[in-house]
Amino acid sequence: MDMQNSLLNRLFDAGLLIETGVDGLYGRSGAFEDVITRFEALIGAFGAADNAEAIRFPPGMNRAHFEGSGYMKSFPQLAGTVHSFCGCELDHMNLLQCMAEGGDWTKGQEATDIVLTPAACYPLYPTIAKRGPLPAGGGLYDLQSYCFRHEPSKDPARMQLFRMREYVRIGTPDAVREFRQTWMERGRQLIETVQLPVEIDVANDPFFGRAGRMMSNNQRDQNLKFELLIPVTSTARPTACLSFNYHQDHFGTTWGLKTADGETAHTACVGFGLERIALALFAHHGLDTADWPAPVRKALWG
Ligand code: ATP
Ligand code: ZN
Ligand code: MG
Repeated sequence: MDMQNSLLNRLFDAGLLIETGVDGLYGRSGAFEDVITRFEALIGAFGAADNAEAIRFPPGMNRAHFEGSGYMKSFPQLAGTVHSFCGCELDHMNLLQCMAEGGDWTKGQEATDIVLTPAACYPLYPTIAKRGPLPAGGGLYDLQSYCFRHEPSKDPARMQLFRMREYVRIGTPDAVREFRQTWMERGRQLIETVQLPVEIDVANDPFFGRAGRMMSNNQRDQNLKFELLIPVTSTARPTACLSFNYHQDHFGTTWGLKTADGETAHTACVGFGLERIALALFAHHGLDTADWPAPVRKALWG
């Protein structure tokens, strides 16, 4: 905990992250953003040969798609919904009075059609399903989005709003598994290129509740999730900076994704936690990018 606090405070002092008064909600300096931009370019270089289709969604998604994804079954504790004032002028007067009295003015807010995106790939599946069956060979997509998770923390690597860069493969089970294997190797190479220590291990998602524990065990037993870990705030407990997920036919069945042969498609994604990677770089190479090792500077800035 001490180490976490000290890294966070050092980042604030250096101006790389900017306090807002809410744990896990930070501004970023130009220098911090530049590292993310350059690292994303490096990711793009590693993935360039595959010709992924680039798609960018905003950080909010269609609530109906969110509901259909089953997210609330697995991770109700992390979700963030967008609510708005939808009342008349009288409601507005009551709202202002409630605020003036320090009351809970949010009670009257109504759910909108938008939910904050919990992972960059969630808006993709219904979008691709709507196009009809996949072309022969399946699909490959390049995504990036701010994501929201309600997990306030003093650990700078656990933010509430952070960016995820993802590649998503949709196709036959073989194609999808091969994609994941390729990115596990590329991910390791990528991180070694910027001279960070890496370790890859089997993992599970933070499924909610008692039923969730069984889902976590099942996910581990079947090797459905791997994480690439880098020590950021602790060497004993390194941080997951990339994850490699095989969803089997979960999203294919949920959204009716079909291969060109009419089979239910399987899906996999590789997710890069962009802030976590930037934080790992600053933690290992120093808070001033001018002091970073020459090969790291060359890999990022050319
Ligand atoms: P963790 O195990 O640390 O909770 P996760 O396994 O839930 O992370 P994923 O759902 O696999 O993470 O998300 C993909 C990537 O997004 C992660 O590998 C990580 O790099 C990044 N990420 C996840 N949660 C956060 C967060 N709260 N703040 C910053 N980055 C995050
Ligand atoms: Zn994903
Ligand atoms: Mg995890």
